[in-house]
Amino acid sequence: MLPRTYTLIIAEKPKAASKIAYALSNGLSRRYTLYNVPYWVFRLNGKWFVVGSAAGHLFTLTTDTYGFPVFDYRWAPTWLVDKNAKYTKPYFLALKKLCANAVEYINACDYDIEGSVIGYMIIRELGDSRKAYRMKFSTLTPLDLKKAFQNLSKGLDMNMVEAGLCRHELDWIWGINVSRALMFSIRKVSGKKVILSAGRVQSPTLVEVVNTEFSRNTFVPIPLFNINVQVKIGDKVFSLESLNGSFKSKAEAQKAAEYIRKIGKATIEKVEYREERYSPPPPFNLGDLQAEASRIYGFSPMETQKIAEQLYLDALISYPRTNSQKLPPTIGYENILKNLSKLPEYRHLVTMLFNETRGQLYPHEGSKTDPAHPAIYPTGVHPRKLSERDAKIYDLIVRRFLATFSSDLKMSSITLHLTVGRYKFKLKFRTIREKGWLKYYPFVTIEETLEIPTIKEGQTLPIVKVRVTTNYTKFQKTYTKASLLKWMENVNIGTESTRARIIESLFSRGYLKSSKGKIEVSHLGYAVADILKKYFSDLTDVGLTRRFEEKLNAIREGKASRDQVVKESKEFLSSLLERFKNEEAEKAGIDLAKSLKLIKPNKPCLICGMESVGDIENIMLCKNHYEALLNLKKTYKEWIKAFGSISLNEYLRKVSKLGISGKWVREVASSILEGKLTFQ
Ligand code: ZN
Repeated sequence: MLPRTYTLIIAEKPKAASKIAYALSNGLSRRYTLYNVPYWVFRLNGKWFVVGSAAGHLFTLTTDTYGFPVFDYRWAPTWLVDKNAKYTKPYFLALKKLCANAVEYINACDYDIEGSVIGYMIIRELGDSRKAYRMKFSTLTPLDLKKAFQNLSKGLDMNMVEAGLCRHELDWIWGINVSRALMFSIRKVSGKKVILSAGRVQSPTLVEVVNTEFSRNTFVPIPLFNINVQVKIGDKVFSLESLNGSFKSKAEAQKAAEYIRKIGKATIEKVEYREERYSPPPPFNLGDLQAEASRIYGFSPMETQKIAEQLYLDALISYPRTNSQKLPPTIGYENILKNLSKLPEYRHLVTMLFNETRGQLYPHEGSKTDPAHPAIYPTGVHPRKLSERDAKIYDLIVRRFLATFSSDLKMSSITLHLTVGRYKFKLKFRTIREKGWLKYYPFVTIEETLEIPTIKEGQTLPIVKVRVTTNYTKFQKTYTKASLLKWMENVNIGTESTRARIIESLFSRGYLKSSKGKIEVSHLGYAVADILKKYFSDLTDVGLTRRFEEKLNAIREGKASRDQVVKESKEFLSSLLERFKNEEAEKAGIDLAKSLKLIKPNKPCLICGMESVGDIENIMLCKNHYEALLNLKKTYKEWIKAFGSISLNEYLRKVSKLGISGKWVREVASSILEGKLTFQ
């Protein structure tokens, strides 16, 4: 049912295509199918238009060359290359047909680097990129789509396309070469074929987690002692916050406690009154939304992203893959709010916001920007039926949007500065004076003192209890999927659209696993990271990865060329790979095969069976357990200082029972206690 001549509009997904057809034709388009893939036809101002759809990337990079280094590659249909992408075949065939008869092409894929590449490749390979336009929009509402259609830019956005093509090429060159190098080295020494993968952004991310987990697993806690002092004000008891630091020895702490008990009262030296103000949170970009959805609901970054993308396809929110914390006035604040007020669950909040601001709407923006999109905002389109999880994300976005226009959260605080002889303490009371934005975005818990007792300077408070508590130093850094994504954002590697997927790929490849919401490294993860760190240290370096990210941004801004950046990356990789292949592959292969237990170690670690550190006589421990043993020895001295005296057995027993002790530390401590290992 194709007209004789027409303009072909290409959307990224069928749902977006249907929204575009509906909006531009005022609901008068007709739907047909080719190879079971839908397309839409309509007439506007005497011209025919056809809207077709991609299914994400229909083209991908591939090579016909075996071995490595490999630098010759070409673009090919994804369904021919990737067994898991067979579902894209009908889309490819349908677009091939739709492109053949079109006289002009409009790339209406999502407006970002990926969308620019998806549309460009289809038009270049199946149509004619000289007769192309780009349609740019941030929401799939009829109003925005019509505006975008009236403001088409001539030609395709080649800076975005070049940056996108370059990212694909760098990732491909890097990924295939390093993966093949690893597999080559292991086959060389063991004759076995093992599938291993590495990636330009993926590998530095893996190494970051591995380094952190290595430190955690070899961590030995150190005891600290604190004095807990409770005072009575009126008939209520309060715990004071000590300003004296922790005591490193139990005896010292006990002496101080005795001294405080003897004095028996705390004196209020100063009462400090303060107003505390907290600005509204900025509107969401994708990273902030992922972090909040994880903090509040425990959603993984990938899940949040998928839900947000669905909400976008349903025209409920603006484009979610954005780094922006800005809301330009052109999005029409008032209209959005008026539409939201028709939803019963937000009516009351919107009325409150209009009253509070008297219609003067100024968003409290953050500093982050995005070249293509504003921050994530609700369009005001009414959701039909949302699943429980979709509704939670939608609600977060609406409430954050409302909060952004509200006023500061204001709190009053009273801080008592107290002394007991030579020791100093603090006691703080806080009350909320004005809730401000917290009324709209109530996902922050604030500890409030409901009744503040009457106090004055110079007053003394009776001490009712003094206690010495034993605490242990903790290993602070723990990665969850959400905090790992934040780390990638902070060190500036990957993009909004790729970060969550890269983290998921580390899991699906078996390098990382989840344990009670926290990330753990698998045996395979340690093995691969160790080899990468040893033989490809430059490639796992965050600095280098970030420098290439900066070059990709420069291409997007028209300040660098793809050829130059790809050439640089090839030169860099090729010398590294040649050296590896000729000089290091065998050694790396042995290391890798041993840690994957494909070949027998010469001297197995008596705890885990891995190869033990060669140069230390008589200690049959791998490098992990050896590091744990060294830390155990070092820390024993601290424990002796802390407790005055503590026998080795008691020390080891305590360390092996503490949950905060590193896993390898506990294993080594138990082995010594069982007599399998000596502590010399
Ligand atoms: Zn071991």
